[in-house]
Amino acid sequence: MRALRRFTVRAQLPERLAPLQTLATNLRWSWHPATRELFATLDPAAWERSGEDPVRLLGEIPTARLTELAEDTELVQTVAGLAADLERYLTEDRWYQGEEGLPAGIAYFSMEFGVSEVLPNYSGGLGVLAGDHLKAASDLGVPLIGVGLLYQSGYFRQSLSLDGWQLEHYPVLDPQGLPLQLLTGADGAPAIVEVAMPEGRTLAARVWQAAVGRVPLLLLDADIEANDADLRTVTDRLYGGDQDHRIKQEILIGVGGVRAVRAYCAATGHPEPEVFHTNEGHAGFLGLERIRELQSSKRLDFDQALSAVRSGTVFTTHTPVPAGIDRFPVDLVRRYLTDALLPGLPTDRLLAMGAEDDPAMFNMAHMGMRLAQRANGVSKLHGEVSRGMFGGLWRGFDADEVPIGSVTNGVHGHTWEAAEVSGLIGEPGASLDHVGDAELWGLRNALRARLVDEVRRRVRAAWLERGASTPELGWTDHVFDPDVLTVGFARRVPTYKRLTLMLRDPARLRDLLLDPHRPVQLIVAGKSHPADDGGKALIQQIVRFADDPAVRHRIVFLPDYDMSMARYLYWGCDVWLNNPLRPLEACGTSGMKSALNGGLNLSIRDGWWDELYDGGNGWAIPTADGIDDPHKRDDLEAQALYELLATQVAPAFYERDSGVPPKWTGLVRHTWETLRPQVQATRMVREYVENWYAPAAEAARTVTASDYAGAKEIASYREKLNTAWTKVQVTGVDASGLPDTPVVGAPMTVRAAVDLGGLSPEDVIVEAIVGRVDEADELDDTVRVAMKHVGATDGADRFEAVVPLPHAGLAGYTVRVLPQHPLLASPAELGKVVLA
Ligand SMILES: *Cc1c(COP(=O)(O)O)cnc(C)c1O
Repeated sequence: MRALRRFTVRAQLPERLAPLQTLATNLRWSWHPATRELFATLDPAAWERSGEDPVRLLGEIPTARLTELAEDTELVQTVAGLAADLERYLTEDRWYQGEEGLPAGIAYFSMEFGVSEVLPNYSGGLGVLAGDHLKAASDLGVPLIGVGLLYQSGYFRQSLSLDGWQLEHYPVLDPQGLPLQLLTGADGAPAIVEVAMPEGRTLAARVWQAAVGRVPLLLLDADIEANDADLRTVTDRLYGGDQDHRIKQEILIGVGGVRAVRAYCAATGHPEPEVFHTNEGHAGFLGLERIRELQSSKRLDFDQALSAVRSGTVFTTHTPVPAGIDRFPVDLVRRYLTDALLPGLPTDRLLAMGAEDDPAMFNMAHMGMRLAQRANGVSKLHGEVSRGMFGGLWRGFDADEVPIGSVTNGVHGHTWEAAEVSGLIGEPGASLDHVGDAELWGLRNALRARLVDEVRRRVRAAWLERGASTPELGWTDHVFDPDVLTVGFARRVPTYKRLTLMLRDPARLRDLLLDPHRPVQLIVAGKSHPADDGGKALIQQIVRFADDPAVRHRIVFLPDYDMSMARYLYWGCDVWLNNPLRPLEACGTSGMKSALNGGLNLSIRDGWWDELYDGGNGWAIPTADGIDDPHKRDDLEAQALYELLATQVAPAFYERDSGVPPKWTGLVRHTWETLRPQVQATRMVREYVENWYAPAAEAARTVTASDYAGAKEIASYREKLNTAWTKVQVTGVDASGLPDTPVVGAPMTVRAAVDLGGLSPEDVIVEAIVGRVDEADELDDTVRVAMKHVGATDGADRFEAVVPLPHAGLAGYTVRVLPQHPLLASPAELGKVVLA
C-alpha cells in the first residue's frame, strides 16, 4: 500500500540526551566534525540510512535504543560537552564584536541557499555561495539575517534513462522533517506574512527559521491552507514554472521577505537591519517595500524614501551572461505592482526602476543597480566585465568610472575542506614547513582512495537506476584506480561552461584515458536546467562516451550532482578542470573548494582563476578570446587542454622519487600555503563588512539622522539637478595656458566657461581631463583635476585648473561637469555628466 501523504514525527528524547535536539537542528553540525562524529556513533547504520541527516537519524533510532543510550555516561558527557561548545559558539564575542561602528544588523536576500544537503534549497553555485556567506558570517559574529523561500521540492533530483537522457524527479520535502522551526508571533501563533496579488487576492506565507550557527535563515513558505489552491504552489520549486510563477515568487521573497524580517525582529529582539544586501536581482522588490514603509511611516515622498533606501542597500550581480539576467515583460510587472501591494507608490516610478533598452521589458538587475548605492561583481574580472555590461546606466562615463566594484567570492573552509587537511597542516595561513612530502602525498592518496570508493558506489547505484541488474554490474567494483591521476569536472550545464569541450577530439581523449604509462581518469557531473534540452543533449553525449566498455573504467558521469557528492569530488580529485568561455564565468567557486584540499586547478583564466593563478598553483588553459568563430575557438582551446594534460599535468603526477612525485607535491604545497587563505569565505565576508556594509550603514545613518534630513536633502538636490541638467553646458574651453614647449611635467592651465543652468558652482565638479589620445581622439590614461571656480563673467561661471602634462607623445584634454554632493558615494552615481 502506498501512503497518501508523508509526515515526520519528531523523536521524544530522554532528558539526558535532550541537547541532541539543538545539536541536530542548528546546522552548525554540518561543518563541525566532532558533532557529526557524535551523530554517527549513535547508530552508524541509521546514520548512513538517513543520508547523514541528524533530524532524520533521531527519528530512526527506536525509543528503546535511545533509553539505552541515555544510560551511557560517557555518551551523555559528550553530548553535554558538545552542547556547551555550541552554546559558546553562539554567544561568545567573535571578530565582529571587536570592531567599531559596524551595522547593528544586515539582511541578506537570496533566491537560493545551499547550506547543507539536508536542506536542498539550491540549484548550484549561487545558492552554495549564499550558504557559505551565512556560515562565514556566523563564524565572524556578523549579525546577519538570511532571507529566502522554502521550496516544497527544492531543485530537481537527476537520474539517467538507459540511453543517457536526464530525468528529473521532484521529491516533496516535509518541513517538519527538516531542521526548521516556525516563526511565531507574541501570541505564540505562527507569524504570517501577506502580499497582495492582482484581482484583490492575497498570498500568505508562513516563515520557517533555520539556524545556521549564529545566523537565522528565514524561509517563506506559501503552502498553507489560508491560500487559494493555485497560490499554495507559489513556492513549489526553485526556478520552475513560467514568468507569471516567477514574479509571484519574487514578490514574495522581496516584499514578503522584508515583512518577514520585521516580524522576526519584533519577535526576537534581533536588531533591525541597517543594511540590505540583494544577492542577485531576484529579490530586488525588497527595495520597493522599504520605500513604501518609509513613505507611510516617516511621511517621506517617493524620492526622499528612495534616497534613504539606496544608501543602505548593497547589490551583487552574479552573471555576465545576458540570458542569465532576470527580466519580465513590463505588462506583467504592471499587473502585479498594484496599489494594493505597495500602497501609495506611483506605478510609473516603479516601472522606471527596471527600465532597459527594450521598452517592453523590466530588468531586475537594472532595478538592483538603481535601488542600491553600492554594487559589485564577484571577481576582479567580473567587476570589470560588469562595468562594461551595465555601462549604459552611466552613459557618458568611461567603463572604469562605472561605480560597480568587486568582491571575489570565497568558500567556507570548514564545510569544504576534509578534516584531515587541517589535521595535517593546521589553520589557513599556516606554513607547511613541518610537513614532509611523503606525508603530504599520503594524505592526497587517502583522499583519492575515498573518492574512488564513492565513485564505485555511485556508478553502481546509477546503473541500477538505469535498469541494469546486479549480476551485470560486477565490473563496477573495478571502475577507477586509486593510483591514477584523477580529474574532476562538475558544474551546472549552461552552454558557456562547455561540458563537452573535452569531447572535441574523442580519439585524443580516449588516448589520454587509456595511456599505458600515464593514464587519466575523469569524473563528470552536473545538472541541466529541466527546460534546457540542449544541455541534456550535452550530458547524453558524455554519458554515451562513458558507457563504452573500452573506457568506462576511466570515465564516469555521476548523476545528481549536489553538495553531498561535491564534497567527495573536492576532497579527492587531483585536478579540477574548468573550461568556460571567457569571460562568462563570473567567479566559479568549485575550483576554490578543490584547492582547499590540495587539488590543482586546470582552468581557463576566467573568474577567480584570472586573478589567483600564479604559475605555481596549477595550469592556465590558454584562451582564444579574440577568435569569433565559436567552433574554431573550441578547437583551439580543446587542443590546448589535451596538450597540457599530456605534457605538463600527467608527467608531473607520474614522475616519482621514492614513490613520491616531487614536482606535484611542490605544486600542492604551494596551493595550500598561498591559495588556501585567499579563497576563504571569511575573507570575502570581512571584505563585505569593511568595504560595503560599513559604508552603507554609515551612509544610511547620515541620511536618516534628524528625521531623514539627509534623504530629503539628497532628494531635493536630485530634483534640482533634474530640472537644470539639460541646460548645463560648457560654453568655452581655453588652453592658452599650454606651455610654449610642452614637456612632461610642465604645467598647463585649462580655463573653462560653464553655463550652470541655474545650479550653483558648489553643486557641481568641473573637471579638466588630460591624457593620451588615439587616432579617433579617444582619451586614455587620463589625469583628472577638479577645476576651481574663479568667478562669473558674461553670465557664465569661470573655472580654472593647472595640470602638469602627464605623458610624452600625442596628448589631448577635455572638460566635463559632474554632480557634486557630500552624500553621493561617487560622482558617477547619478549617471549624469556633461562633456565639453
Ligand atoms: C561549489 C558548488 C557549485 C558551484 O561551482 P562553480 O565552480 O561555480 O560552477 C555548484 N554546485 C555545488 C553542489 C557546489 O558545491
